[in-house]
Amino acid sequence: MRLEKSKLLPLKKIIIAIDGFSSCGKSTLARQLAAKLDYVFIDSGAMYRAVTLYLIQRGIDHRDAAAVEAVLPQIYIHFERQASGNLTFLNGEAVEQQIRQTQVSDLVSPVATLSAVRRMLVQQQQKLGESKGIIMDGRDIGTVVFPRAELKIFLTATTTTRAERRYLELQQKGTPADIDWVRHNLEERDRIDSTRADSPLRQASDAVVIDNTNLKPEEQLAMVMALARMRIGS
Ligand code: C5P
Repeated sequence: MRLEKSKLLPLKKIIIAIDGFSSCGKSTLARQLAAKLDYVFIDSGAMYRAVTLYLIQRGIDHRDAAAVEAVLPQIYIHFERQASGNLTFLNGEAVEQQIRQTQVSDLVSPVATLSAVRRMLVQQQQKLGESKGIIMDGRDIGTVVFPRAELKIFLTATTTTRAERRYLELQQKGTPADIDWVRHNLEERDRIDSTRADSPLRQASDAVVIDNTNLKPEEQLAMVMALARMRIGS
């Protein structure tokens, strides 16, 4: 039997939340899923990094919460889709490279503890997900940003594996870094992210946990695609 196109049910669009520790491959997985499902991919960490870059550029001390809050209305972040992936823009300027630099990585987690920063970014993230068909990765996506997301994944891997992957990634991108700094930076970010008072990094009770230490990227993608298909209903 052939179904006429008009009689086919439109595919249900869902929200996929991917959370986890630093350098677990969240963005890579989210990007691959978005390409397969033709969904929008948003790297929420890039937004916290862009705010941090803005503060550094203006010489604003992140420990002065009132000074940070005062400049938040001047920060406009948007993403542009490119064949190579999403590019992050801060007030109209492409900052994808700059937000990955060590200076930003060192300060981003303390900046992300500030409630005013989180409020502003969570509001923008929720707006981006209004029409669903989105995959967002971060630390609080399944718990705070989209607590009703249809699919929640929590990624984890050993610290050594994560540090090695991050080091290789930085080398490939031509960002200078040393392996001891990389390991220290991710341990420190995990500590701050997991212990902050506002929206700490936490596994949602209904998240599917995947330890990808010994998984190939294609194996992980196949697992999550199978889960996504079940939720989408195709
Ligand atoms: O994802 P990425 O490692 O680039 O994120 C950088 C930092 O931004 C994290 O270490 C965390 O402090 C903060 N972040 C957050 N909540 C998110 C995404 C990122 O607090 N949803």
